[in-house]
Amino acid sequence: MKHCYYCNEALGEPYVTQFNSLSLNCCDVECSKKIIAFLSRVKRAKVCFSVLSTIAGALMLAPLVFIVRMDMGSGIILLVLGIFLMGLNSCAFPFATGQSIEALGIRGSQRIVRTIGVIFLLVSTPILVFTLI
Ligand SMILES: [Zn+2]
Repeated sequence: MKHCYYCNEALGEPYVTQFNSLSLNCCDVECSKKIIAFLSRVKRAKVCFSVLSTIAGALMLAPLVFIVRMDMGSGIILLVLGIFLMGLNSCAFPFATGQSIEALGIRGSQRIVRTIGVIFLLVSTPILVFTLI
């Protein structure tokens, strides 16, 4: 059974949309427009997203690597800062991976990435506020 690349609805007769060299199945012109908007946004923001993810990842890993040289307090702040940045990144650029898009469609996987981003922000913001004040 074919599914819409955007909303993941099961398709009888798919409407095929083109993006670069990709042929993607979707419901209709509406879903097709959203797919193209999403893919062009991913294309434009890819570099920004990768840079932010790398910084966030490095911040989260730094305390583990340098734990011997760092006191607990600064280690935790770096870790939480990394989580905060990751949350911000996931909310601003909810780019899911190809696999989750295959399974859930763009809309479904975007929702999950955004939800995780919001959880990251909700967890990290109070800790940052309390430790930095
Ligand atoms: Zn659709």
